[in-house]
Amino acid sequence: MNNRKHYVGIDSFRYVAALLVIAIHTSPLSTYSEMGDFILTRLIGRMAVPFFFMASGFFLISEYTYSGDKLRTFVKKTSVIYGLAIAAYIPLNIYNGYFAIENLFPNIIKDIFFDGTLYHLWYLPASIMGAVIAWYLVKGLGFKKAFMAAMVLYVIGLFGDSYYGLSEKLPFFKGFYGYLFQIFDYTRNGILFAPIFFVLGGILARNPIRSSWKTSLVKFMCSFLLMLGEGLLLHQLGYQRHDSMYVMLIPAMYYLFSFLRSFTGKQLLSLRTAPLILYIIHPMIIVMVRMAAKMMRLQWVFIENSMVHYLTVSVCSIFFSLFLALFIQKIRNKEKLQDKKAKARAWIEISLNNIENNAKELQSQMPENCNLMAVIKANAYGHGAFAVSTHLEKTGVKSFAVATIDEGIELRKYGIRSDILILGYTSPLRARELYKYRLTQTLIDHPYAILLNEQGCKVSAHIKIDTGMHRLGFDASDHEHVIDVFNMKHINVTGIYTHLCASDSLSPEDIMFTEIQIKRFYQLVDIIENSGYKCPKIHIQSSYGFLNYPELKCDFVRAGISLYGVLSSSSDPIKTQLNLHPVLSLKSKVVLLRKVTIGEGVGYHRTFAPAKNSTIAVIPIGYADGLPRNLSSESRHVLINGNLAPIVGRICMDQLMVDVTGIEDVTVGDIVTFIGEENGKALLAPVIADNEGSISNELFSRMGTRLEVITVE
Ligand SMILES: *Cc1c(COP(=O)(O)O)cnc(C)c1O
Repeated sequence: MNNRKHYVGIDSFRYVAALLVIAIHTSPLSTYSEMGDFILTRLIGRMAVPFFFMASGFFLISEYTYSGDKLRTFVKKTSVIYGLAIAAYIPLNIYNGYFAIENLFPNIIKDIFFDGTLYHLWYLPASIMGAVIAWYLVKGLGFKKAFMAAMVLYVIGLFGDSYYGLSEKLPFFKGFYGYLFQIFDYTRNGILFAPIFFVLGGILARNPIRSSWKTSLVKFMCSFLLMLGEGLLLHQLGYQRHDSMYVMLIPAMYYLFSFLRSFTGKQLLSLRTAPLILYIIHPMIIVMVRMAAKMMRLQWVFIENSMVHYLTVSVCSIFFSLFLALFIQKIRNKEKLQDKKAKARAWIEISLNNIENNAKELQSQMPENCNLMAVIKANAYGHGAFAVSTHLEKTGVKSFAVATIDEGIELRKYGIRSDILILGYTSPLRARELYKYRLTQTLIDHPYAILLNEQGCKVSAHIKIDTGMHRLGFDASDHEHVIDVFNMKHINVTGIYTHLCASDSLSPEDIMFTEIQIKRFYQLVDIIENSGYKCPKIHIQSSYGFLNYPELKCDFVRAGISLYGVLSSSSDPIKTQLNLHPVLSLKSKVVLLRKVTIGEGVGYHRTFAPAKNSTIAVIPIGYADGLPRNLSSESRHVLINGNLAPIVGRICMDQLMVDVTGIEDVTVGDIVTFIGEENGKALLAPVIADNEGSISNELFSRMGTRLEVITVE
């Protein structure tokens, strides 16, 4: 499955947190106000690192991800980054005289595990330890007890940090902390500080969102103000040995994170690594800015003015980290695509270029003021609604149509902001959801409109008119009821439409019938206008309606199958030839080759008995993946290494067999194409659909939920 939900709030705050960390290390307000500086760097700034821990915990420590793999990957990745960061800062360590200190070896060990070999690097080992401790606490004790255990650790830390002034007064505690401080310099570390935030992140990931972002924000503000008071008081009393840990930091972080978690949607820039790079490199940038300022003799502005210094460091760090993150992402994407194909069993390959081309081609052939309404019901005709909808919206498509309310809600969760029309029936009891997710409902008849109106929730709707298909819609002659809908208090009519049922045929009778349908519709539109109502947006054509009746003047064309670049059937005659390209390919690979001799059979019922000694390839894709079983009744072909090879025996639920006798160099792992092109040879969906007595629409929409969707350019 594609990762559908993007936590935009959390991901955006990563940048804010990274900038706060830079603030801690550059003190932007120090030129202006000591108190302001304390509040910014010792209180507000202290939320940055806990936030990073929580974000890691959120994605790592949640109930459903207890496979040790995830933790192992996290630890491995963080260790590699830590190793690289240590190496990168060795020159600076040398410059600072780090290696000249006494007791170098024990100190290095201490630093590597707890304090960091440079001041900010403690975050990485703390992250590793925090993750491991939180993971095993939750695994062993469950969330509640893990929370309490992590709290105990935090409280121990607290009394060695902001509340040290109290511990110092009691000899026993003083001795205890004296011992601890031989192991590490601060209690703000991977054992006493980090685990609680990882656990909290996991708890939040597991709990459903219960309160609105507003409530969370208010609760956060209250906790934060209390933390402010706590911090200022402790500062005043001189209790703080260090100033990273506060009692109120826990609720403040919890509510801040709840607030951020409420924002999901489309990610503008999915560079999750950039803030981490920013975090790691900023000390280097600080050194460089200082060096450059000295060389240009501009210390008085770039160093002495704390604000200018901070902004310069921030801008350079952001610039550099985005650049590096983009570069890394490019390489990774390439690797990922290779890796996905290498790991996949059977997959759908979607060409984003082709779907973009098709959308533009359709749009360019439409009359002025007419717009494409992209029909992406049934998981975008099996193409994967996420990839298709987000890419189309990015390239300028402003209306979508789906069949059901749940499909519509799904699109909103992907972050689609365009209009979404539900073409089918929705229970009136779900009116609130229609309103909440800004979905436009089709009114299927007058009683339905009344019921929906009675829910008392303002809902946008398009009135469906039955002009002869006799499926959904108000009768075209029933203008009184249609007009009645315009007066309904809770229904906002934004469109009116009909559906053609024979526009895919160019036989004279069908053309005549279609023209009657069109006439009935426009007559109704006239009546509405003559009754003094402003006629809403109108639409009539689906793909074939548009290809065969391109001259109609409407506000939308509801294009489905044509958007995906194929016809329903290879034999359909059409009037308009458009430059459309198939978007979908269906592929799998050879997982096993075996010899079968004359007299033996292959597959269920041994329906295939080779006439000579043959080589059979087993392919792990079957009818549960949407490959129709009745394609096995006659010999149908697949493409392997540019050669056509027949499917033999019955197609099974999850596998099928192909005769590769005589095809050279077939080996395990070779890619097998079922739909798509290879070396100039093509297997087209409409032809395959013809062979099984169906249409490409059905073939596509049945490509189950089991196939991975891989997008290519
Ligand atoms: C599915 C559907 C469409 C899209 O049809 P295509 O033939 O795939 O373009 C258009 N309008 C309605 C009402 C539909 O149900």
